[in-house]
Amino acid sequence: MPFVNGSQMLEHARQNGYGVGAFSAHNAESIQAILEAAEQEQSPIMIQVGQKVIQSIGLEPMKVLIDSFAKDYSIPVAIHLDHSRQFDQTMQAIQLGFQSVMFDGSALSFEENVSTTKKVVDVARSLGIGSEGEIGKIGGTEDDITVDEKDALITTTEEAVAFAEATGVDYLAVSIGTAHGIYKETPKLRFERLQKISEAVQRPIVLHGGSDVPDVQVQQAISLGVAKINVDTELRQAFTRGVQEIFDENREEFVLANSLGNGRQRMKEKVQEKIRVFGSSGMAKDLLTDKKDVTL
Ligand SMILES: [Zn+2]
Repeated sequence: MPFVNGSQMLEHARQNGYGVGAFSAHNAESIQAILEAAEQEQSPIMIQVGQKVIQSIGLEPMKVLIDSFAKDYSIPVAIHLDHSRQFDQTMQAIQLGFQSVMFDGSALSFEENVSTTKKVVDVARSLGIGSEGEIGKIGGTEDDITVDEKDALITTTEEAVAFAEATGVDYLAVSIGTAHGIYKETPKLRFERLQKISEAVQRPIVLHGGSDVPDVQVQQAISLGVAKINVDTELRQAFTRGVQEIFDENREEFVLANSLGNGRQRMKEKVQEKIRVFGSSGMAKDLLTDKKDVTL
């Protein structure tokens, strides 16, 4: 099974006008759901290992689990470390052979964010691993933020350029109106800003908080330079509802393969739906053939 450097994968997506889904895995069944969906769609994918699953299962066990499932599939996969706020953890992921890592220094000062992100980028690049950095704060926890404060969260073109140049990061997460978790009202992405940033930094842009953003907005964002779309919440909802369906039918269903298996099936359907929206269906072969020609 071909593991692909995150940067090569996303440059191919950017240059060919599609988006790669970065889907969060939480257990064995969710890894299978992502891989099965991608295989069926013949789509490249990123499997994200986030901070919650690192606490519950661990970084190395998740890497080993994904590796052992992925070897039976033919589609290009990049295993990605999501939202690490610890330099040591990013180094551990690099040692474990992740194809992509994100150091999230968005809570730090600009200077501190730059200096740690640059260290991660330098190590990752020397080993052929893609790196993601974040500039601007992506909301999602504060409920009562005023419009002014909301606006203050949007990444400016100037800071995006300064950050990209100072760190050399391969792909850039920016704040353009999405949030993590469940939206209270339909988000409105800031396309003008996205276009300016994308043209100025000339590298793939990452959209966090991709759950529940209307499909047409996601597709427009992809046309303007977004090449990686993070999806977690909607997948967890699909998985959980799948498990619930089984218990709604029979509260005494104690065969975990049945309840978790239905969760896996529902999540797989959701991943497939997302892959189609992102336009990455059928791109697996193209990426594997073209990857040597991708300009990095
Ligand atoms: Zn995120």
